[in-house]
Parts: sequence; structure tokens; C-alpha cells
Amino acid sequence: MIKRAALLMLLSTGSVCSALASHLPSLTQEGLQALTLAESSIALNSAAGPKNQTPGVAELYRKALIEGGFPLEAITITRIDDTAYMTLHWPGEDASLKPLVIMGHMDVVAASPSDWTRDPFTPAVEDGYLYGRGASDMKMSNALAITALIHLHQHGFRPHRGIVLALSGDEETTMKTGRILANKLKDASQVLNLDVGGGTLDEETGRPLFYAWSGAEKTYADFDLTTSDPGGHSSEPRARNPITTLAQALLKIQAHSFRPELNALTRSYFLNAARFTTPRLASAMRVFAEAPDNAEAVATLRAEPSLVGAIGTTCVVTMIKGGHALNALPQSADANINCRIFPGHSRSDIIHELTAVIDNPSVRITDRSEGSVETQPSPLDGPFTMAIARATHQAFPNVSVFPSMSSGASDSMWFRQKGIPSYGASPIFMKASDDFSHGLNERVPLSAITPGLHYLLSLIPDLSDN
Ligand SMILES: [Zn+2]
Repeated sequence: MIKRAALLMLLSTGSVCSALASHLPSLTQEGLQALTLAESSIALNSAAGPKNQTPGVAELYRKALIEGGFPLEAITITRIDDTAYMTLHWPGEDASLKPLVIMGHMDVVAASPSDWTRDPFTPAVEDGYLYGRGASDMKMSNALAITALIHLHQHGFRPHRGIVLALSGDEETTMKTGRILANKLKDASQVLNLDVGGGTLDEETGRPLFYAWSGAEKTYADFDLTTSDPGGHSSEPRARNPITTLAQALLKIQAHSFRPELNALTRSYFLNAARFTTPRLASAMRVFAEAPDNAEAVATLRAEPSLVGAIGTTCVVTMIKGGHALNALPQSADANINCRIFPGHSRSDIIHELTAVIDNPSVRITDRSEGSVETQPSPLDGPFTMAIARATHQAFPNVSVFPSMSSGASDSMWFRQKGIPSYGASPIFMKASDDFSHGLNERVPLSAITPGLHYLLSLIPDLSDN
């Protein structure tokens, strides 16, 4: 078996010969390979719908893996509805060990070209960035993972435990293929989800600040609030009106704060991340980490949109509908309440709490969350914690590495639900201000490529040896 240090040396001495390379300082052959693969995959519009090209992205990846030396039979692509999911199985030397799963997704959020500065599905390299839908979420990460696996394979690395690359095809919408993959891979030792977590660069200097991996996520929930009435002629108003009843319920929900909460992951996150924020927030984070009932700290964190989700459950109205004619008393009104539930509570716990807050039996609450499951945090100790620090330091020595909890939902939930430890561990370091995932003019800095490869070439062998 080739040693890890040798693998990294091979990477750093690769020569660059493409004409493009003269504009891309310090990209190795592998870096260019990853960039080309990211570009080709961005050119395929893999948003859900009748023209979904996710199967084409899977074919592109399969071609790259086969050209990189993996056998055809190691790769499966399964079509489902308008999308597809794929797996690459790389057997380990010890077949009795549970495999390491490296997870990603091939689909993207829809993008309308008329709103973008450049066409979202024509990859463009400009000013040190790769632009295009999926650049940061998450076609560059997929390209880095595939390039790293090919590099390891070509340089004689033999994994101790098997490695499975599992790419879902509808993470941004229905998340069905992630659930299928988790069912098929339920014997996984652990899951490395490259879609979540990542490194942060300093806004001014571009210097790497910290790497936050994710060991838990909040439960996604949509609750339907409905109130109805026989209605009637608008010239004869009555005391009861479904629209105002609903409005009163919504105002009560808006005024309600869920209990502030802390777990081992968020405590560690607050204590570590406090070093990289303003003095006022830093002080609130440190106080909250020791005393989550401190009203002043809670108020400060609650007022910060990027942190409010880390201190407890949140619920917010996202859509409303009501009435049927300009001149009729409304017969019904309803609203969608979107909640992000702190680990440890079920969706029915939250329905109970909302019912008590609204305190009006004429407002019915129903759970319409589809494709969401309740999960517990993954362990904070174990081989992953050491491996992630070593990998990050291969890319950037001395950078702080600490855990966090994601406010959004990811394919990790399907694995965590089965008790399989799952960690968000994206290979991308970027500035927070460069993150346009799901938004307009999405991009990824080219400077993320080389450290991302160094990181994966440490992390993958490390975890397959443990
Ligand atoms: Zn994503």
C-alpha cells in the first residue's frame, strides 16, 4: 500500500500542460481535471423537471471514473422518475469491515437564465472563480471527490475498508434517492457528506480562518394551519372570519419563542466560533454556551438571522391563502408554517406546542412534512474527529477545526435515522460572501481546488484505514 505522504507529494508535483493552465496559477494536473469535470457537469442542467439532466451528469461521472481506471462493473446508475442516483463501489482489503460512504448529490436548484449575469448552464472561468449553477452546491465538490478517488486508485492505494461513492439525484427537491441510497447502504460504518460543512476564509485577506464540520441537523417540518366557516355575503359581516382568525394565530406564532437549547455540538461551535466574530456576538456566544437561559445572550443571538437557528426550534409562516371572491365572506384561510426543529423533539411535540400557543380550537394544524425524518446528533468523538483535523491541516496548517449543527436538511438525515454516524465535511474553503448556493450567479473560487484535493487525499485514506 502506498503511503499517504507519497500520495500528497505526487499531487503537488503534477505538471500542468493545458493552454488554460497559464491563467490558473498553481493548478496541478489533478486540479485541472477537477475543474474540467466541474465545468462539464455545470453545462448539464440537472434541476428537477422534464428536462432534468441528472442522468447525464451520472454518465459523465461514470465516464471519468472508467477512464481513471475503475472497472465498469463497480459503477451503477439507477434511473428513477426524471432523475437518477449512482454508486461507485471500491472494495476494501478487509471485506468484513463496514464500508465508508462518501455522499453527494448531482441535482441543482432551478435557475432562470434571464435573472443571471451569465448563463447559469454555461460554465465560465472569470476573475478567479468558476461561475454556474451548481458550482458551489455541489458540482465542484463532486468533481474533487471523483478526482481524488481516481488519483488514489491510479497511485496504488488499496482501501482497508471498502469505499462507496454515493450520489443522489433529488437532494434539492423530494430527497427520495437519498432515502433509497441509505436503505441500500445501511451497513455503512460512517458517512462523509460533502454537501454540508466547510472552511471559511477571511473576508478581507482571504486567509483561512476555520473549518466547521457538521454532526447534526435540524428536522425540517411544514405544518398546515386551516380555519374554515360557512361564509356568506360580504354586506353582512359577522364576528367570526377565517382570515382574521388565521391572522391572529399567525401573530401569536410570530410572538412565540421556543425554549433556547444547547447540545454538545452547538456548545462547542459557540465556544470556538466566538473567536471569529464581533466582540458583541462573541460575548453572547460564550455566555450562551455556559448558560443557555441567560436572557441577554439569548436576545442577542436571536436577533442574528445566521445564529437564531442554532439556539432552538424556529417556526415561521411562509405562505398564506384565503377567501374565494372579492364580495364574499371567506369560507377558509390557510397558512404554511415552516419549522426547523432542534434535535431531540418530534414534529408532534412542536404541533402540541403550536396548538397551545394558538389556543383556538377552530384553527386546525396538520403535518404535511413529506420526506423529512427526525434524527439525533452523530457522536462527537471517534475516528472522524481526528481524521477531519488532520485532513484540514493538510490543506491549511494551524486552522481551527470544530463541530457545528446544520439548520438545513441534507441526505445525512436518512443515514442518521438508521443510527449511522454522518458528518458534513465539504472539501471547499470559501468566503461567506462568495456563497451564492441556491441564489443568483453561483460561483466557487478556483483557489478552493488545490486545498480541497489535499484535504480529500488525506481524509479518504484515513477513514478507510480506521
Ligand atoms: Zn447541496
